[in-house]
Amino acid sequence: MKIVNPYSGAVVADVAADTARSVAAKYARARAAQPRWAAVPMKRRLDAIAKFRAAIVAREDELARTLTLEVGKPIRQSRNELKGLLGRIDFFLEEAAGTLRDEKVLDDKNGKLEERISHEPLGVIANISAWNYPYFVGSNVFVPALIAGNAVLYKPSEFATLTGLHIAEMLHEAGVPRDVFVPVTGTGVTGGALLRQPIDGVFFTGSYGTGVKIAAAAAKRLIKVQLELGGKDPTYVCEDVDVKTAAAGIADGAFYNTGQSCCSVERIYVHESIHDAFVDAFVAEVKGYRIGDPLDESTYIGAITRRPQLDVLRRQVADAKRKGAKVATGGHTIKGRGNWFAPTVLTDVDHSMMVMREESFGPIIGIQSVADDAAAVDLMNDTEYGLTAGVYTTDERRAKKLLAQVNSGSVYWNCCDRVSPRLPWSGTGHSGVGLTLSTYGIQTFTRPKAWHLREM
Ligand code: NAD
Repeated sequence: MKIVNPYSGAVVADVAADTARSVAAKYARARAAQPRWAAVPMKRRLDAIAKFRAAIVAREDELARTLTLEVGKPIRQSRNELKGLLGRIDFFLEEAAGTLRDEKVLDDKNGKLEERISHEPLGVIANISAWNYPYFVGSNVFVPALIAGNAVLYKPSEFATLTGLHIAEMLHEAGVPRDVFVPVTGTGVTGGALLRQPIDGVFFTGSYGTGVKIAAAAAKRLIKVQLELGGKDPTYVCEDVDVKTAAAGIADGAFYNTGQSCCSVERIYVHESIHDAFVDAFVAEVKGYRIGDPLDESTYIGAITRRPQLDVLRRQVADAKRKGAKVATGGHTIKGRGNWFAPTVLTDVDHSMMVMREESFGPIIGIQSVADDAAAVDLMNDTEYGLTAGVYTTDERRAKKLLAQVNSGSVYWNCCDRVSPRLPWSGTGHSGVGLTLSTYGIQTFTRPKAWHLREM
């Protein structure tokens, strides 16, 4: 497998991909090793994850550089991802033992009856992952899964393979046995081979299209299937905001990570009374973004990781223009050897256009004028996805009333593109099933076992 730098088109590394045979052998080793790992005291499993955390701190520069080279993420944003990862690991280290402790739910001394719930590991799970935030989306799964006593067959995206191998190396050096955390490298073909093993669960992060294939492959096996998929996340800007502040915050939510975040803002609705002022402030902000070598500290817009995505972005712009949208800035690829698309703002858009309905996953956004709150809520809910949604207003009650009507896993007041380890991360509709993060996202890697204990 050739790892190609999306910025320059240069080959960064050559990595051996797993075959169906090697995947089966890795599965067998993980199956044999899992019960021993589950029997290790929780404290030792937590110690291993704490050492993994320390390795991330010690190797931050090298890890950030690798991530930038293989996915084209601006180097500052790669370092931000690694820093953010520490907070997530801390959450799991603090909460896991309490969350997974046995619970006594009945203690009937007279009836000599006790009822308890224990949290058993699922067994051997597959973690099939995406490339856009490989440290975040991977660790949301493998960290709590390992702490809970599972063995993890971890398939990083073929676009973040080197990062996946770094993760494996650090976990192994931290004391997680090689057969308990097992990297599996390759494309979707390797992912398919992984799903043919008798695993106990699959935890997937990626696109809706692949998610459907994963669910179909697992359907007859009756195993746990968790899918964290895409989004078409809306933000509504009310007329009472400070336009410049709102525009700057929302532009960052739309263009950070070059728009390649599952929870990027992908649709903006603006109250008609401030629409023009908002567009002016928004476009000025976007025109200030520095595009360039992702290894350069001052770069904000990096490369498009997957080359075919350029066609998706081109198609969405052409479709919008044909149907009457105006290009306020950008709207085209940027010439060069790598994959580049100019940050693009489209106005006069509506829901007949692909750009307001299909995930863009790139530096492109549509801004639509709305007459009132009711129209904004209707448009926000007019989507097959439901990952996140936001409202910008100075009126907290109005925000809460609107957000209560929005059908999505997370809602934001005066913020966007935000994930917290303390809150569940989930989606409705085509954004997926199941969740990660929060204490629910620790329990999700276990099966509750019911104990009915009666003394004779
Ligand atoms: P993708 O669906 O192309 O690939 C994801 C993973 O699935 C990769 O590891 C790939 O090799 C594997 N795969 C592909 N076909 C397979 C098959 N038939 N069987 C088994 N495995 C297969 O997605 P991507 O391009 O890596 O990621 C981008 C998508 O992920 C976007 O839609 C984004 O919104 C979504 N995403 C969602 C979240 C979330 O938390 N909801 C987070 C990050 C990314």
